[in-house]
Amino acid sequence: MIFAEDSAASPDSSLLLRGGTLLLLDPGATVLRGADLLVRNGRIASFGRPEPPPGTRVLDVSGCFVLPGLIQGHLHLGQTFFRGLAEQRRLLSWLRERIWPLEAAHDDESAYWCGMLGATECLLGGTTTIQDIGIGPGIRGLLRAIDDSGLRAFAGLCLMDSGDTLPTSMRQPTETALTEAEELGSGFDGASGGRLRYVLNPRFILTCSDPLWDGIRDLAHRRGWPIHTHALEQQEETRTVREIKAGRDEIEYFAERGVLAADLRLAHGVWLTRNHLERARSGRFSVVHCPSSNLKLGSGIADLLALRAAGVPVGVGCDGAACSNHLDNFEELRLAALLQKVKHGPEAFTGLDALRLATSEGARALGLDNEIGTLEPGKLADLVVLSSDRPELWAAPQADPHDIVAFGASRGAVLHVMVEGRLLVEDGRLTHLDLAEIFRESNRCLAELIRRSGLDL
Ligand SMILES: [Zn+2]
Repeated sequence: MIFAEDSAASPDSSLLLRGGTLLLLDPGATVLRGADLLVRNGRIASFGRPEPPPGTRVLDVSGCFVLPGLIQGHLHLGQTFFRGLAEQRRLLSWLRERIWPLEAAHDDESAYWCGMLGATECLLGGTTTIQDIGIGPGIRGLLRAIDDSGLRAFAGLCLMDSGDTLPTSMRQPTETALTEAEELGSGFDGASGGRLRYVLNPRFILTCSDPLWDGIRDLAHRRGWPIHTHALEQQEETRTVREIKAGRDEIEYFAERGVLAADLRLAHGVWLTRNHLERARSGRFSVVHCPSSNLKLGSGIADLLALRAAGVPVGVGCDGAACSNHLDNFEELRLAALLQKVKHGPEAFTGLDALRLATSEGARALGLDNEIGTLEPGKLADLVVLSSDRPELWAAPQADPHDIVAFGASRGAVLHVMVEGRLLVEDGRLTHLDLAEIFRESNRCLAELIRRSGLDL
């Protein structure tokens, strides 16, 4: 356990951010310049020039942009170790030849440090909330790392019970998978003051049997847990789904099994059609766009305007270090906007649209929009402060700050990061985690993991 409760700010303390440019990302896209933001008991208390209570810590953020903490709706922290180990492959061979054998070799200890390594990259890049699709072996270590990192998270066991090319250690008997998911969820959901939430993570149709999908649907209904899965990422994947599911594609299959009626969060959805969106309209359906991953694996470009026109909430995420190589959500939201401009023209997607993917809209995709995603009094104090001395963020006062941040900011500009009033990054450095220890333990665990995998790398 390396999480230290005596980090720079406890959730009970008051903290005043003085003099920042606040991008609220509220419905009116309000910008407050030279404003203070008061945090009390882990929540945003007020804006403007509030009189702080005695003992309030004051951080001068004059000239800095202050915005809601970034949300990554689809992530594999359990793949952080595998960066660079599966390059130049299409999705199914990427999984079969490298990612599955490597994931199968995780144990609790390797998964813990792998998760920690990814979590620190998220935090240092301004991400405060993640939705992680989990792993099989080692899941307990990964969930412990997510808790210790201080991130807000949906996470859970990655469920798989079939698939010819899946390593046997990843293929759980159906009932065992469902029982373990429920047992893990009972301990994780709502833990750490509600910062942690459980999500059911069937990996994708090709590794989950009909009885497993039925069990997941029933569990989701009984426990009120969402379902998070991959679908319509590549056309080759959909072709294979049609071969084994009597000609049905992913959405037709989900509709038939009643999965569409659940709180379903789809990673990718690159090949969603108008018909799919019509069918999904009745449920609580959202999509998480992962542009770096979609480009690097040659998957295609999702049509965010079509999703938006259908009223589907769209989030954004880096997917995993093994496919996108980085966990920088500023890069991801920028890329998302640039791709829509290529697809639909330069007026199609603004800097504000891009920022919303990782804030207000990203929160809606995860059903957390009452608590996070905008800077508003009463909401949880999850926020990021960008440095005022970055040349790339210097701009005329007439420029729209949403465009300046969305198209110009990167993780290099991240100065402070706060989750529920706790300052986890201050002056660009982690306040509560020892990066040298994480690197050291990661090096040791990865060498052992590669040996266990039997891969000749
Ligand atoms: Zn993924």
